[in-house]
Amino acid sequence: MTNVSKTGLKTMGEFDLIVVGGGINGAGIARDAALRGLRVLLLEKHDFGSGTSNASTGFIHGGARYLLSDLGTTRASCIDSGHIRHIAPHLAFRIPVVYPVERPFQGLLVESFFSAYDHYSKYKDGKAHCWLTAKELRTLIPDIPADYNGAATFDEWGVHAHRLVIANLRDAAVHGAQLHSYTEVLRFLVEEQKGQKRVVGVEAVNRLTGEHVQYRANMVCNATGPWSMDFAARNDLNVPLRPAKGIHVVIPRRVLPFGIMFKAIDGRLIFIVPHGDVTIVGTTDDDSFETPEQVVPTYDDVAYLCEGLQHICPSLLTERPTMTYWGVRPTLYGRNCYEDDLSREHHLFDHAKTDRVEGVVSIAGGKLATYRVMSEETTNLIMQKLGKQAPCQTAERLLPGAEAVDLAYDCRSLQQINSRLPKLLYHRYGSDVRVMETMVEENPNLAIVLDETTLLTAAELCYVIRHEWATTLLDVSRRTQWGISHRITTEAASRVCRVMGEELGWDSEQHTVEIRRLTDFQELAIQPLSAWRSYNE
Ligand SMILES: Cc1cc2nc3c(=O)[nH]c(=O)nc-3n(C[C@H](O)[C@H](O)[C@H](O)COP(=O)(O)OP(=O)(O)OC[C@H]3O[C@@H](n4cnc5c(N)ncnc54)[C@H](O)[C@@H]3O)c2cc1C
Repeated sequence: MTNVSKTGLKTMGEFDLIVVGGGINGAGIARDAALRGLRVLLLEKHDFGSGTSNASTGFIHGGARYLLSDLGTTRASCIDSGHIRHIAPHLAFRIPVVYPVERPFQGLLVESFFSAYDHYSKYKDGKAHCWLTAKELRTLIPDIPADYNGAATFDEWGVHAHRLVIANLRDAAVHGAQLHSYTEVLRFLVEEQKGQKRVVGVEAVNRLTGEHVQYRANMVCNATGPWSMDFAARNDLNVPLRPAKGIHVVIPRRVLPFGIMFKAIDGRLIFIVPHGDVTIVGTTDDDSFETPEQVVPTYDDVAYLCEGLQHICPSLLTERPTMTYWGVRPTLYGRNCYEDDLSREHHLFDHAKTDRVEGVVSIAGGKLATYRVMSEETTNLIMQKLGKQAPCQTAERLLPGAEAVDLAYDCRSLQQINSRLPKLLYHRYGSDVRVMETMVEENPNLAIVLDETTLLTAAELCYVIRHEWATTLLDVSRRTQWGISHRITTEAASRVCRVMGEELGWDSEQHTVEIRRLTDFQELAIQPLSAWRSYNE
């Protein structure tokens, strides 16, 4: 339905639910609501999954470190991690983690800690902890300082977070949700009904065309992560957050087959984590008072993580981290504590109760590992407010790509390009790797490798353009992990631009703009590392 409102703006469609924000929570809510039969519209101001959900360490863990202060989060994360593993087995991978300990008495504390964690770990099919002797520890990490005389091991799971967002969105779309990226919600449309304020839709701007549009809906959900507080405030609503910036550095190789959890210089726990073909080191955790778009990594952030590496495993520094990535945690408000001690619980704000405005809810806080249960709770409340009933299916129903596939048999054309390619693609797209196989069979030109470092092919590129809403070079880099650990060369970027240009009808000016944006972004990611290296090497 399209008509013109009193403001003269075009009004598009009538929906049961508008979700604002296309990170993991917005995507999870859109999927859950669409599966329950709601007419859903999701609006995202940048690329889908380009906010905090693209900045996580990628653990769908129980958060062992929250065990003492935040038991609810540990329990919820462990249970939901089990569900995520079930619905997206192709995106999840086991990470055994080693936690070196220094002195015997610390060992006793750690033993009781991990005994308690074992209780929750079983929800996510994690193995019970065990102990390594000093000798075993030194076999695993030969250059660990002599102070460490043993280690506890525990079991976590990793996930490709951006791909998890896309998988949720794809399923939402399959079940009828309309999804628009690069569409910013400017404000809520509010009407007075029987003396009660009610949100009846949103005004949004398409950031690519500049067109302003209104959408009407029975319910609106604010799922804007670290933007939630400011976005709510602009609409006279209250979502108290204490956002915190976190960065990682990336080593361009899988240097260890296990993760290490250890204390940074200030006693905070940080991680070294194998993730696909690379190793991630992180994270920092610092109060952030800027808007998330303004946040960038600094020399100090990098120095803090590199100091940790230098302490626990100096040889890893010789592997030379090459990239950073960063984001802002949407942590719930708390005072009188350090950032790291803030609760990782989530909160569902029913603004009818907190601000006397009906028709709108906000979801904030939480973790990637709890996105599914956060989405379920949010959708339950929305269903209740709409007076509808339908059970949640997201704990059981597989995400797109989750069905098993025989790579050796099925993907000969991809194998001919490179024997590693089918497996690599399977862990991004699951059984949809077969779609790429068919694309290559039908059009052998798509077998061309556009970037040797990450084995990005024209087939994968066309797949993410045609099936996953990728419209810019940076969108492609997120979907495919292109450039996650290295500077993309102008030659590779130009090759990708040419294919994108053919698919999307770009002119030469657009090529230039795209390459400049990619280069600028990579410069932000690399510059603090280069500065650190030139000072310390
Ligand atoms: C450094 C770091 C490491 C982390 N590691 C882990 C981890 O290992 N495990 C874990 O479980 N969790 C981890 N987290 C937390 C986890 O990443 C977040 O809890 C989760 O990604 C938040 O998702 P979200 O959808 O709420 O927010 P986001 O992903 O930020 O999504 C919000 C979206 O809303 C959009 N938006 C904002 N305003 C508007 C508007 N006006 N109109 C339209 N769209 C709008 C934004 O562009 C954004 O895409 C980590 C976080 C950080 C920062």
